[in-house]
Amino acid sequence: MTSSRSTKLAVIGSGLMGSALARAFAAAGHDVAVWNRTPGKARAVGGGTVAFENLVEAVTGRSLVVVSLSNYAAWSELVASQAVASALAGTTLVQLTSGSPADARGGLEWARAHGVDYLDAAILAYPAFVATDYATVYYAGSRAVFDRHQETLQAIARNSVYVDEKIGSAATLDCAILEAYYGGSLAVLHAAAMCQAEGLDPKAFFAQKNSFLGLISVTADAAQDMIARNDFTGQQCSLNTHVAAIEHIVRLSTDARISARFPRELLENYRRALGAGLGEQELPAVFRTLKQD
Ligand code: NAP
Repeated sequence: MTSSRSTKLAVIGSGLMGSALARAFAAAGHDVAVWNRTPGKARAVGGGTVAFENLVEAVTGRSLVVVSLSNYAAWSELVASQAVASALAGTTLVQLTSGSPADARGGLEWARAHGVDYLDAAILAYPAFVATDYATVYYAGSRAVFDRHQETLQAIARNSVYVDEKIGSAATLDCAILEAYYGGSLAVLHAAAMCQAEGLDPKAFFAQKNSFLGLISVTADAAQDMIARNDFTGQQCSLNTHVAAIEHIVRLSTDARISARFPRELLENYRRALGAGLGEQELPAVFRTLKQD
């Protein structure tokens, strides 16, 4: 996809993600400077990008600076240099380094103090999917700043989602989606291990993918509605019954001598809801005890 306007931008960080982002901007026709702590990686980005060894030179004269580093601490180290901070004044910084909402708030505070427009962003994609329909980037911060750069930013993901003015909102949504991803993935892997330990080919479990993903989807819809109404009563399946099912999972894991840590943790969370007197309510009632935590 070639953009109608060419933007002079810099991508800071030439790791797996930063390199993919830089190449996607260059492929869309933008003038892309790249910088990396280890200079050889910046030189290896290619794709029409220009590698700089000096960070001040890399960002000078660029209207947009996109950052993709391991963590916010790495970025704080770089901008501790007064020369770098001065060179960034007047630019728009898009922070694509993953972090927490508190990291994002710290980033905005720094940016305001240094005359930098700031968007905090989170990318939901592996580098191979950058610039495709399978990449989504969430943005938080000033709507006006987002609107000003949206066309350029479209180069890295077909789905650019503006979340909210609240600067921590993209990081919050990212953490929420990633928790569902990592927690769900661990559940899937533990389930496959249970099957194997009991002599059932894990393929039999994976063949039921649509069933268990469908159940999660139905539960997410029900939970959304119940949380909005703050009413977790229903006629489908009580938490008491769900807890009995989780006890079977713990027993299978223990008998088959595989790790029971994950199902025990599940059981503890669900049992806490019983302890709170919610046993006759539906599964999403667990949400109430999480809030109390
Ligand atoms: P990576 O390949 O390990 O790259 C890390 C980058 O951070 C490198 O450029 C590294 O420089 C730089 N860095 C680390 N510490 C530094 C420091 N103290 N000072 C300066 N530079 C420093 O990681 P990645 O996969 O590209 O991830 C980058 C960001 O994208 C992370 O926040 C990650 O969570 C996010 N992300 C990644 C993916 C993915 O699938 N890879 C998906 C979504 C989000 P050197 O080369 O010099 O070490």
